[in-house]
Amino acid sequence: MVWKGILESNIRDLGELERQGLLSPDERERLAGVTGHHPMSVTPYYLSLIDWSDPGDPIRKMAIPCEGELSTIGSYDTSGERENTKLPGLQHKYSSTALVLVTNRCAVYCRHCFRKRLVGLPSEEILKRIEDAANYIARHGEISNVLLSGGDPFVLSNNAISLLLDKLSPIEHLDFIRFGTRTPIVLPRRILDDDLLSLLSEHSRPERRLFVVTQFNHPREITEDSIRAVDALLRAGVIVNNQSVLLKGVNDSPDVLADLQSGLVGIGVNPYYVFQCRPVKRVKNSFQVPLARGYRVVEDAKARLDGHSKRFKFVMSHRTGKIEVVGVMDGWMYFRYHEAKDPASMGKFFRRRLVPGAGWLEDLLERPPEKSPGDAVGAVVPHS
Ligand code: SF4
Repeated sequence: MVWKGILESNIRDLGELERQGLLSPDERERLAGVTGHHPMSVTPYYLSLIDWSDPGDPIRKMAIPCEGELSTIGSYDTSGERENTKLPGLQHKYSSTALVLVTNRCAVYCRHCFRKRLVGLPSEEILKRIEDAANYIARHGEISNVLLSGGDPFVLSNNAISLLLDKLSPIEHLDFIRFGTRTPIVLPRRILDDDLLSLLSEHSRPERRLFVVTQFNHPREITEDSIRAVDALLRAGVIVNNQSVLLKGVNDSPDVLADLQSGLVGIGVNPYYVFQCRPVKRVKNSFQVPLARGYRVVEDAKARLDGHSKRFKFVMSHRTGKIEVVGVMDGWMYFRYHEAKDPASMGKFFRRRLVPGAGWLEDLLERPPEKSPGDAVGAVVPHS
């Protein structure tokens, strides 16, 4: 298969970039400390999108290790994934959704990945037998949808994908199944595989569609090739939604973010979420935008967009739920639970005192410090 051959020719070695004249010996040496912790793997196609004359190139930033990754500020599990794991490879945080981690491999190891702890590394968090996940889901009638993620499910063989769908499709209480994947963006040829498209088409029926959730983060990822991949998915009857991550030096500008969202609508991809970058070790330092600035960027981008292109929500995927950032006023930041781990918090509106540079809920204050000097930072108690 063509795509497997491409994947085998991925660039995994900093020395290869040096041989191609893309990194200096000095840079190679400094970055070796990063790849010792988190492997590099980039498809030749995605590498070709980099403008090497620009040291701040956004595609480069997402694909090539940088020294910022040496910073270990943050945590490897910011959303409580371990505590939501019901069996190896299956998480059940929100009652209606099961998340299944089907692989630890990806076509490209994105430097900003929030599952950095496991992508490309040995992990006990990956599903061993789909039958076990299917049994769990079948026993839980409240689960209306399954998100297949990882890693990237589309680096699995067609046989493996077929098995996943064959086991999950018969579960009657499922309304839809989603694949979370970056392959349309980093390895579009994977999507143009006829056998994969027939498989998706067969399972995406008018009464129960398959969804693909992409992660386009920059308008330069919208290329002739990725447009063909999206078009092929749409023709196969698959619904395509996009969730971007707000990333410093990549899309933290209103113009870039607006171009991205309107470009996606133009090619038939629905804007779904813009995520606040999580405070992940070896990610936060290089990629996280302070919340207040992020909110401003998002609002200024929305001001440039039509209704369709600004349907996305700006959210933080927090340990307690998916928290929408709804506004900033008089030194307060306002939030609403879009999804909540505790059903009692669903829809709740609350606020936190802004702290300059704060990047995550725990960095904000529950009340102004002068009124409660001994107050700890970070208790998460929603106000109704
Ligand atoms: S494809 Fe997804 S899971 Fe894989 S490294 Fe990129 S963001 Fe992480």
